Amino acid sequence: MNSFDLSGQVALVTGTSGGLGQGMAIGLAEAGADVILVSYSKPVETAGAIEALGRKAYVIEADLSIEDELSKVFEEALSFQGKIDILVNNAGIIRRTPAADHGQQDWHDVIALNLNSVFFLSQLAGRHMIERGSGKIINIASMLSYQGGINVPGYTASKHGVAGLTKALANEWAGKGVQINAIAPGYMETDNTTQIRADENRYRDITARIPAGRWGTPEDLKGPVVFLASSASDYLNGHVLNVDGGWLAR
Ligand code: NAD
Repeated sequence: MNSFDLSGQVALVTGTSGGLGQGMAIGLAEAGADVILVSYSKPVETAGAIEALGRKAYVIEADLSIEDELSKVFEEALSFQGKIDILVNNAGIIRRTPAADHGQQDWHDVIALNLNSVFFLSQLAGRHMIERGSGKIINIASMLSYQGGINVPGYTASKHGVAGLTKALANEWAGKGVQINAIAPGYMETDNTTQIRADENRYRDITARIPAGRWGTPEDLKGPVVFLASSASDYLNGHVLNVDGGWLAR
């Protein structure tokens, strides 16, 4: 199992106060990594869980939708241990309104965080990783990297963008020792899906369409993220790994 071992590695994970980012940050720490937690609100529980594993957690509070903040965040992250081995671009928001009523602010907020911050943080990390000749970038895509969704035009556009960007960067950086891949989670029980889970009919219809017969949890992303962050996946480039209980197979 040595190729899955992340001992001595430093991971930067965005959006770690709860949900999937929390699960993945803890998963990376379980595999041996120290983790920089970048979050809008303080990720107290996540940091505590990582430290309880005997790993280090370094917290940076930031609003990643502000482009000018990103280079400061990255510089501060580098000051922790002088390197970033793994970047997980997880922070993301969703705004649910029919396309005809979708406000400009909602559109711009979603694109700023879900797509712009993913590119600019990847660019900062990519330069650093290319210089070192190694690194792993993992973007969090979605079923809406493939499908259109309902009432979420900005989110769908952003997640199609994330899948495209994953391939575009992989083409340029695979030969430089930097692997860029994505995870596309299916329907997961987090704050992101509170609104649709509250609608009994939609909840039932979605659950019935998932071959695994249940929604996913943050725990379900631990194995996939460790795989993509470790040398076990050194020949994987530009891949979007669906972790969806079979949703897309149906
Ligand atoms: P969540 O709402 O529980 O977590 C989102 C995280 O992003 C939180 O930690 C939050 O603090 C952080 N965040 C929000 N705005 C931020 C900002 N401006 N700057 C910095 N951090 C910010 O949702 P989640 O489901 O855990 O979502 C994580 C990722 O997974 C997102 O990219 C989401 O699109 C994606 N995703 C979720 C699902 C699902 O079903 N839950 C499915 C597919 C993809």
